[in-house]
Amino acid sequence: KPNLTVKDLHVSIEEKEILKGFGIEVNGGEIHAIMGPNGTGKSTLASALMGHPKFEVTEGQATIGGEDLFDMDVDERARAGLFLAMQYPSEISGVTNADFIRSAMNAGREEGDEVSLMKFIRQMDDKMNTLEIDESFQHRYLNEGFSGGEKKRNEILQLLMLKPEIAILDEIDSGLDIDALKVVSKGINEMRGDDFGCIIITHYQRLLNYIQPDFVHVMMQGRIVKSGGPELAKKLEEKGYDWIKEELGIED
Ligand code: ADP
Ligand code: MG
Ligand code: MG
Repeated sequence: KPNLTVKDLHVSIEEKEILKGFGIEVNGGEIHAIMGPNGTGKSTLASALMGHPKFEVTEGQATIGGEDLFDMDVDERARAGLFLAMQYPSEISGVTNADFIRSAMNAGREEGDEVSLMKFIRQMDDKMNTLEIDESFQHRYLNEGFSGGEKKRNEILQLLMLKPEIAILDEIDSGLDIDALKVVSKGINEMRGDDFGCIIITHYQRLLNYIQPDFVHVMMQGRIVKSGGPELAKKLEEKGYDWIKEELGIED
């Protein structure tokens, strides 16, 4: 069963400590939402787990399937089953979307065990249908001239095609209109199951009306300060973050 475990993670950017003892355990079958005010380190967490060179891990551990994540390069993390919506370069000229997805699918497979072209095309058609993505997308160059909403849909297409064990989706809902939000949510909900665990990072509760999380975590000042169920997200929507700051005696 998939597992991502992060313990006491400290991460700095340019000598400034941003994550200060972050911990989480995500298992197959679970959807975790991480919410929190701007600038608390949510994207830093995603970047550090992805292996972005600018983010320095100074303390703590992370494992995927029991293996040390920080011992792996970016490609190895993907092969170990980790998917990050941000890991893909914004544009790769000369590579079509379909080519990119197919090579990413085959990257983790032995020679001779690659996905057949027929099977690939059938799966792509099926998933693009689910996500209401136009057929022409297959043949367009990756992310070139994609609108914000198209990029997000395409990230979910990659998710559905690659079927990772663990996904980290950072602000997948930002800038989406309600129809796009519903389609993106439908895609994520389709992944639900014991062989898939997910962290959804979002500033707003809105997305969680469509994707029911099992756990909601509030992040402040570089760590999780409160955890609960879906009701916690509703309370944040109504009352904002100030009551938590008061409860915990945090000053901005
Ligand atoms: P969030 O995603 O919760 O809004 P971020 O992780 O983006 O927060 O940012 C946390 C802190 O790290 C902020 O103070 C931000 O200014 C700083 N930061 C983020 N990315 C960089 C970067 N590339 N270089 C320098 N500082 C950064
Ligand atoms: Mg510590
Ligand atoms: Mg962010």
